[in-house]
Amino acid sequence: MVQRTAGAGSALEIVLLCSFCGRLRNDTGGWEQVDRYIEKNPYVYLSHGICPECAELQFPNEYAAICLDKKVNEAKKNPVMA
Ligand SMILES: [Zn+2]
Repeated sequence: MVQRTAGAGSALEIVLLCSFCGRLRNDTGGWEQVDRYIEKNPYVYLSHGICPECAELQFPNEYAAICLDKKVNEAKKNPVMA
């Protein structure tokens, strides 16, 4: 795990790092390379996760089920009114 700590009195930011491709999830929900992200955000704490592309590649069955479940939940939250 890559880790950087902030100086005294500074807030720490926790950022997800994909365990497979090593890209980071940025503030807009996109995924980018570690070196590019660190250049822009020097005070971050990295944690591991998985990006959508690697989740689909590594766990295709689970990914399909999660996407289906997410669509069902979104439909429940935002029902279409005729
Ligand atoms: Zn990935």
